[in-house]
Amino acid sequence: MQHDAVQRGAVQRDSLLVINAGSSSIKFYLYDIGPGDELTPRLGGQVEGIGTSHPRLRARDAEGKIMVERGIAPSHAADVPNAQEVVGMWLSGHLTGVPIAVGHRVVHGGPELSAPVLIDDDVLARLESFTSLAPLHQPNNLAPIKVIRERRPGIAQVACFDTAFHRSHDALADHYALPERFYEEGVRRYGFHGLSYEYLVQRLGQTLPEVLPGKIVAAHLGNGVSACAIHNGRSVDSTMGFTALEGLPMGTRPGRLDPGIVLWMMEQGMSHDEIEHLLYHDCGLKGLSGMGNDVRELLESDSPRARLALDYFAWRVAEGIAGLGCAMNGIDTLVFTAGIGENAAPIRAAICERLGWLGIAIDAERNAHHGPRISTGDSRVGVYVVRTNEELVIAQHTLALVRGR
Ligand code: AMP
Repeated sequence: MQHDAVQRGAVQRDSLLVINAGSSSIKFYLYDIGPGDELTPRLGGQVEGIGTSHPRLRARDAEGKIMVERGIAPSHAADVPNAQEVVGMWLSGHLTGVPIAVGHRVVHGGPELSAPVLIDDDVLARLESFTSLAPLHQPNNLAPIKVIRERRPGIAQVACFDTAFHRSHDALADHYALPERFYEEGVRRYGFHGLSYEYLVQRLGQTLPEVLPGKIVAAHLGNGVSACAIHNGRSVDSTMGFTALEGLPMGTRPGRLDPGIVLWMMEQGMSHDEIEHLLYHDCGLKGLSGMGNDVRELLESDSPRARLALDYFAWRVAEGIAGLGCAMNGIDTLVFTAGIGENAAPIRAAICERLGWLGIAIDAERNAHHGPRISTGDSRVGVYVVRTNEELVIAQHTLALVRGR
């Protein structure tokens, strides 16, 4: 499906599209494919506020220059399929050809899918069957795939899974202490943010190859928050499990929780949907602070509740990092990534302070400058800040699959 058309006298470059669709936004990234299959970002953007009264479309080129920033009629972005039409329309006005393939972030590959796959009818049906494992995410991830299959049936589409990187876990790490029949039915510790961790492994291999065979804990601290134990470049444990609710506190999710609390809420008369909404949207930093989930605002606030939320966050993230050391019998390297991990120096400092007993010590100035190395020369554990790039991993996998590699 190569496009070798020549337009306006210039050789047209092949391009590849990456889509990351959530419940309220569709993010899109376009890459140019060079003669040696090197991928160069051309633009990135998103439709946000899907299903609200103020949906917006924005996009920037590779230099960060704004290409579009405008409101959309709510009826044109009432749901994800609608919003995908808006993305398609806008992109078609900015492309000189059709992308050779589209790569999608799909949250769940279920117990079997441990690598990206080309999407056909069978694969789509299998992915739909995993909806019960990720009811809030999977349908939104699959919606743009269906729209593109309908509108552009000739374009190859590839699904890349957030769970795939963790399929290297052994059965012990994958289990909950439940009767075995639940494991057989798919109640397992899948783990998420795998595309981000996969990128970190790739990046560490390029920039710090000496740390890669060792015992690494990577902390993906964004709106979703998890940490992953990586040994010899492979995931051996994750703080996230069956759903993206388990583990560390997040922007709007509580992280670890006594399941008795959910039973208590049910006894109080809360419905399944009310509890689900609470756990995904109103807890974590937002719930504790009573303000919101943006760490920038919480750091600037002098409200005691904002302080409490950030202190809780630092404590429980540190606890989760330390716990992952049990999966590897130690920690040699700690890596921070994602919105909070890459940008919030005071949060990194607070987490590392709670890990001082592990011999972790960070240099205030290096930390203020966001690294890449932020640990002191005599810290027993090397601590780094690495910018994640999940969409590049999706683009690489997609290109590899359509090239038959
Ligand atoms: P992500 O999900 O990786 O996009 O991360 C989003 C979160 O990162 C936001 O909700 C903020 O809490 C946090 N964040 C982004 N930029 C900064 C910053 N400069 N300082 C502190 N926190 C930030």
